[in-house]
Amino acid sequence: MSFAYFDWIAHHAEVRPERIAVVDLASSRKISYRAMDERVDRLAAHLAALGVGRGDRVAVLALNAVETLEVQFACFRLGAIFVPLNVRLTVHELSYIVGDAAPRVLAHDDELAPMAKELKAACSVPHLLAFGAAYEAALAASPRLGASEPVTLDDVSTIMYTSGTTGKPKGAMITHGMTFINAVNLGIPAFISQRTVFLCVLPLFHTGGLNCYTNPVLHAGGTTLLMRAFDPGAALSIIGDPSVGLTHFFGVPSIYQFMCQHPAFAATDLSRLQIAGVGGAPMPVPLLKIWQERGCALVQGYGMTETSPAVLMLDADDAARKAGSAGKPVLHADLKIVGPDGDPVKPGEMGELWVKGPNITPGYWNRPDANRTSFTDGWLHTGDAARVDDEGFYYIVDRTKDMYISGGENVYPAEVEDVLYQLPEIAEAAVIGAPDPQWGETGVAVVALKPGQELSEAKLLAHCRERLARFKCPQRVSFVEALPRNATGKVHKPTLRERILVRETADA
Ligand code: ATP
Ligand code: MG
Repeated sequence: MSFAYFDWIAHHAEVRPERIAVVDLASSRKISYRAMDERVDRLAAHLAALGVGRGDRVAVLALNAVETLEVQFACFRLGAIFVPLNVRLTVHELSYIVGDAAPRVLAHDDELAPMAKELKAACSVPHLLAFGAAYEAALAASPRLGASEPVTLDDVSTIMYTSGTTGKPKGAMITHGMTFINAVNLGIPAFISQRTVFLCVLPLFHTGGLNCYTNPVLHAGGTTLLMRAFDPGAALSIIGDPSVGLTHFFGVPSIYQFMCQHPAFAATDLSRLQIAGVGGAPMPVPLLKIWQERGCALVQGYGMTETSPAVLMLDADDAARKAGSAGKPVLHADLKIVGPDGDPVKPGEMGELWVKGPNITPGYWNRPDANRTSFTDGWLHTGDAARVDDEGFYYIVDRTKDMYISGGENVYPAEVEDVLYQLPEIAEAAVIGAPDPQWGETGVAVVALKPGQELSEAKLLAHCRERLARFKCPQRVSFVEALPRNATGKVHKPTLRERILVRETADA
């Protein structure tokens, strides 16, 4: 099947040309599908003139901007591969990724030009393309592309690096088919349509921003408002503004946490939101309840970069009743929960979640080691522990890598963190396992308090002891100003372990 049928921007430019595809909030530009189609076509011609053809990579280093999406769709038309880069990484870290992806062109925000130049030199990138005046001049000087490269749904369209929460980011190869299937898998349960007005606050260089729900919204012919970088006050003001008519929002748990701790939260009208989705990290139930009390039942989903990303999603109708569950499998995906031997566990038991189907990556770019260890007969090992209740709802317990063993018992930090979040003094909480001569490992609660709040270690530990089995209770508390988070807003546990455990040992 050739790709022309799957060029959403060209389709909507024909069917609903004046509909706004993207509002770039930083520059207040509104780009219609007709305009986007033409801009993508001219950009594709410009990239082709720079030698970009089928299978070549084009990288982007930018905060959220409409140009990033234009590069994505221009790559799609050329059969080239779009490689969005995390702006929060250092030049040293990015050199590894850019060297790995070897792009022909590196497009970038004008203000990131010094970083882009360093990367060009370090990784021998043939061409830079700065967003802004140079980019607009290149579009104006380019003809339209004419014909798109015919590609199939199995061709790789994107190399998307994982969030790097557990180690070095891995480049997951994403095919045209995976992105299309995700638009269906997410679009149906999230009621995404041409009427959707969505606010994107997560970075487009991670799957959470690009595919939850930006690409599905563009696939459906709806409108995406792009925020350059997340700002809780600005997001609340857009959500509550009747003239915007926002219908959809998506965030990782910390996004909802920062919004509900913002002074404007109490007065913001949330009633227009049809879908407020959450996923990407364990979602504390006390946080779900805060939003529920405001009449907004957050719809949890679960996914990974490698699964394009939707795997599980809660139906909006079940969101309040099943708060805490990540829902049921999406339409086009197979799931199983397995024990250490790879055999399915008994119903209700916890095990590792494995996923198979048209939404799964064919593998990691240049990572034969990870490709060998991450798949069994086409099943992707997610590295996440999960269980299913008797109604078929899935619960993501935590990452198996973050689990620690205390006195022979498995402890999943997310369960302990949930209990910590019940304490109203706590702004942020994370639990890690620390070596212990008697128990093997015991938990350390790392906690940041809300401004002006006080909480003693004794009160926190007593709260846990009343609610958790003894082996799950943290043994001690480390109070910090804020938790280290990666660009998506997930707690970066390797940094936390290094700060709390390695330095403590060094200090001892
Ligand atoms: P890396 O693989 O580089 O360590 P990462 O796993 O954080 O980073 P992503 O692909 O962005 O990179 O995130 C996928 C992971 O996010 C899942 O494997 C899971 O651990 C976590 N996650 C996603 N949704 C949920 C959810 N609803 N509840 C708990 N965890 C979730
Ligand atoms: Mg991962």
